[in-house]
Amino acid sequence: MALVKCKWCSEKVDKEAAFVIEKQTDKLLKNGQTKVLRTYLHDECVDAYFEDKAFKEREQKQLDSLRDTILQVHGLRPEDLNRQFYQLLQDIRNGNMIGRKRTNYKGGTEYRIIEKAYLIAESDINWIKLKKSFDSTLGELKYGLAIVRDKLKVARERDRAEKQLNKVAKASLQSGIVPGINNYKKPEQEELDITDFLD
Ligand SMILES: [Zn+2]
Repeated sequence: MALVKCKWCSEKVDKEAAFVIEKQTDKLLKNGQTKVLRTYLHDECVDAYFEDKAFKEREQKQLDSLRDTILQVHGLRPEDLNRQFYQLLQDIRNGNMIGRKRTNYKGGTEYRIIEKAYLIAESDINWIKLKKSFDSTLGELKYGLAIVRDKLKVARERDRAEKQLNKVAKASLQSGIVPGINNYKKPEQEELDITDFLD
């Protein structure tokens, strides 16, 4: 019985009985066949593995989108964002306190909410950029981030209101009633998109 390592729990698993994920590469083996990478999992580890993978992909997508928004708000290029700044974003994402030991993982504010906060803070950041001169890009980014931190609460509230609105719209569509959203306090109009109402 050949044993291999389970990618999820790192314990040994019987190669023949394991759940296998095959991934083609563009590398060629000596015999001319393309190299295939195999991931082995216990059957009971499959769900957790794929859930984690989906979670990480979602995180990456949200971080990419957040980065684009930061570049646009600050008028910067991708290479202007350094590791130190990403660490500050991660601290918010993980829910770490500033200056404390980093212990949490993804227990804080989602990247997509931070992105919303950037959009809310955009005019404030623009104003500060006009008023103040910064020694470095990082200095400007940190200043911007301080403004953004103050907007996180508003961003969360708007997000909740938008979700609520979508729920009502969906329920109305399902029951065939025209959405009666007049009694709802709408999030600001520019944040609404028709696709919000589609599923
Ligand atoms: Zn396992």
